[in-house]
Amino acid sequence: MAVMKFGGTSVGTASAMQQAIAIVAEKRKAGVPLVVLSACSGITNKLIQIADAAGSGRLDEALAKVAEVRKHHVDLVGEMVGDEALREELAEKIDGYVSRLEMLVKGIEIVGELTERSKDTFCSFGELLSTTVFAAAMAEQGQRCQWLDVRQVMITDDNFGFARPIDEVCEAKVAELIRPVLESGVIVVTQGYIGSTTAGKTTTLGRGGSDLSAALLGAWLHDDSIEIWTDVDGVMTCDPRLVPDARSIRIMTFSEAAELAYLGAKVLHPDTIAPAVRKNIPVYVLNTWHPDSKGTLITDDPALLSGMSYEGLVKSIAVKKGQAIVNVRSNRMLGRHGFMNELFGVFERFGVSVEMISTSEVSVSVTVDDTTVSEPLIQALSALGDVELEHKVATVSVVGDNLRMSRGVAGRIFGSLRNVNLRMISQGASEINVGVVVEEHDVPSAVLALHCEFFSGEQCGIFEKPAGS
Ligand code: ADP
Ligand code: ASP
Ligand code: MG
Repeated sequence: MAVMKFGGTSVGTASAMQQAIAIVAEKRKAGVPLVVLSACSGITNKLIQIADAAGSGRLDEALAKVAEVRKHHVDLVGEMVGDEALREELAEKIDGYVSRLEMLVKGIEIVGELTERSKDTFCSFGELLSTTVFAAAMAEQGQRCQWLDVRQVMITDDNFGFARPIDEVCEAKVAELIRPVLESGVIVVTQGYIGSTTAGKTTTLGRGGSDLSAALLGAWLHDDSIEIWTDVDGVMTCDPRLVPDARSIRIMTFSEAAELAYLGAKVLHPDTIAPAVRKNIPVYVLNTWHPDSKGTLITDDPALLSGMSYEGLVKSIAVKKGQAIVNVRSNRMLGRHGFMNELFGVFERFGVSVEMISTSEVSVSVTVDDTTVSEPLIQALSALGDVELEHKVATVSVVGDNLRMSRGVAGRIFGSLRNVNLRMISQGASEINVGVVVEEHDVPSAVLALHCEFFSGEQCGIFEKPAGS
């Protein structure tokens, strides 16, 4: 069995949904899949705008945007469903969600406060709506399938906005509610990204979390494969939006994929790999628009990996924009212990996650997400030393298992970046990445220079030009 996850652009329009349905129908010939969907592209962003507008009392704006969400899905039904009675039934379902969304908007506007908890409820409508339309259209085309509210299965903690599942409970629910349906030959269509607390409150796993939902469900089902269907030909040597020449990577290890995702490659949610590693399930990243191209296989299977050996140093380049450098300088660091503990204690108190670190005898530089830098955080850090801040920087990292034992890689990185102002340098403790921090406006030239250095002469069979290029 396989779990197949389709991202926002793969279900955003009628033609995309149609394409995804055809891919599922083809897959069904080999076994009945579980289908996990994102919201249609742009809808989660719109729901967040609606929530923010309601929370700040802009009722008309919020309701106008709700109407846009409704129209998007009603139009989809119009394009995808032929049967009149089914169209009406779907219009009623959509209106049911929309009126709940409107009630939520009005409630939040009256209370005048938007919490993480209510934001999660707003966001959940995107996936509920996309799966409703998809499942109905697929059934109309003769595929036996059942829509499932994943909140019956994805039982999470109450960390709203970043909820994590309670494994044992979810695994039991999957065995009870999903496995028997699949075994009876019926495809299950359900939502990524959303879940529910044991008390029945809607949660989300965080932005981009549908990949994680799919990996978790695949692991609980002991599936043979986890397929992430998206809008590019798999994991590539760099984000193709930054490097038009980027190539698809045929095969990579779990650690390479996890590192790349954590370091900013949006193609996979960073936590997707862990459930796959736990059950040793291969992950495929595939292109909905080129279903016949090979995409990327992520595996630790030595037989598969050795069949496609790679002698090069770097597999891929990741970029994370929207970062800030926080530098704390203090003579108290010299030869004393406890300073780091105090410093990280401050970040912990403010719930700020530290990404890259570089230290000298008297100063520590870290990168953090720019949106997490606040005046109270800076004040608290100032009690430890002089604080300097640099906004609008980005981390650019090269990743590859072969970096671990290779000489000369630093020379090649810094040689190729000789014309770029490097603000920080760091080698990841895993030893499979080396990262630099640059000003955001330098990202295009830094990335192009690195890509040219490590991939221009690369003739190795594990890279492929994307289909259609
Ligand atoms: P989905 O909606 O299917 O989840 P996302 O937008 O979350 O899709 O992720 C796909 C996007 O990730 C691509 O369109 C691409 O711009 C971006 N991306 C960033 N880094 C990479 C990379 N190394 N390989 C492929 N795509 C990447
Ligand atoms: N719809 C959610 C988002 O846009 C989850 C996902 O697409 O993975 O973040
Ligand atoms: Mg995504």
